[in-house]
Amino acid sequence: MSNTEPKKLVLFGATGSIGSSTLRVLRAHKDKLKLVGVASQSRHKELAAICREFDVRHAVLGSESAYTLARKASNFPVGTQLSCGEAELTELATLAEADIVLIAVVGAAGLRPALAAIEAGKDIALANKELLVLGGAYVIEAAKRKGVRLLPTDSEHNAIFQCLQGYPSEQVDKLILTSSGGQFRNTPFKDLAHVTPDMATQHPNWSMGPKITVDSATMANKGLELIEAHWLFGLEPDRLEVVIHPQSIAHSFVQFIDGSILAQLCPPDMTFAIQHCLLFPDRAHSVTPSTNFRKAFSLDFTPPDFAKYPCLQLAYDALRAGNAVPAIFNAANEVAVERFLAKEIRYLEIPQIIEHCITNIVSPSCPSLDQLFQIDVEARYLAQRHNP
Ligand code: NDP
Ligand code: MG
Repeated sequence: MSNTEPKKLVLFGATGSIGSSTLRVLRAHKDKLKLVGVASQSRHKELAAICREFDVRHAVLGSESAYTLARKASNFPVGTQLSCGEAELTELATLAEADIVLIAVVGAAGLRPALAAIEAGKDIALANKELLVLGGAYVIEAAKRKGVRLLPTDSEHNAIFQCLQGYPSEQVDKLILTSSGGQFRNTPFKDLAHVTPDMATQHPNWSMGPKITVDSATMANKGLELIEAHWLFGLEPDRLEVVIHPQSIAHSFVQFIDGSILAQLCPPDMTFAIQHCLLFPDRAHSVTPSTNFRKAFSLDFTPPDFAKYPCLQLAYDALRAGNAVPAIFNAANEVAVERFLAKEIRYLEIPQIIEHCITNIVSPSCPSLDQLFQIDVEARYLAQRHNP
């Protein structure tokens, strides 16, 4: 590709929170990035508007009923080829003209498109952490075999990726992931029994989709990120740490064997990490201003209280157990969060459902990809039915 030609991007999850931050990056860097394909689940009007604004030729809706509505509304531009279904999503990931695929759908649904994109030799920007938790071994193996780049878009992993540039892995001692501590950082454990979906979907620092916002409150998100870090950077659980940092400005640390620690800093806005991945290895002006040291501010760090955040402990245990246990953790958490948002279960029952699934589902050793998908279904089934 010549330096003057824009990189061609396929965006999965275009209508979501990461999707809309990505569109802000695209608007600011039209000379460097061109959107050639988009996918979402059901918000067809929003997807059509994106196709019109960015002149996108390929669009896929996951949901068939949304596709039918979109066809009736006929609000997609004539130049956009619209399709729907799982096979079409996978096909979009392999679009011949694409240089890079950003996976920002929510949940394990991102795994098949990610694997297809890698097999087609596309670089991947990875916001979706659940797909690595489910199939990390297969994603990493395929990326190595095909020689494609896996660019971490989750802010913590993007920070670590930036700090690691130029350093061999033998020089790394540990990775320290920062966490805001979520919206209930200062809420006593006994009061968590009264948390409602409305309360759990408001985050003090980040504006994100509902699932990850609840995951931030329970710290299941940080648990998923520990597992994500294990796969992306190849470190064992004992060399992965978490620290509570309420301001969300230092986005994670790399500690080297000589004791030096590097961090990456910027405001809590996903456009920074997204732009870094999409333009990598280039850099360009940011969409929003960065952290301003002309104004006084402080950064605080405290170790997490595992008793208050049982999901974090469960994730550590799942990572140590390996095999299909992280996949069970992920599937059970996804269902438990959906049930909590639907007011079927209470907030403190989320970790209870996860623990029940981990205890009651037998994890095969060295599971195949098919076995992992089966376990994912089994864990979802159990998590749907278990009433703590
Ligand atoms: P949102 O809920 O805001 O958006 C999810 C997007 O995925 C929507 O476009 C949705 O379509 C689409 N989608 C959902 N399921 C499917 C499916 N089966 N097939 C195709 N498209 C689908 O989520 P977020 O943007 O907050 O998060 C996306 C991912 O990025 C998650 O894995 C999250 O953990 C991760 N992440 C998010 C961060 C953030 O700041 N938001 C930060 C770091 C990581 P539709 O709108 O039609 O429903
Ligand atoms: Mg994160």
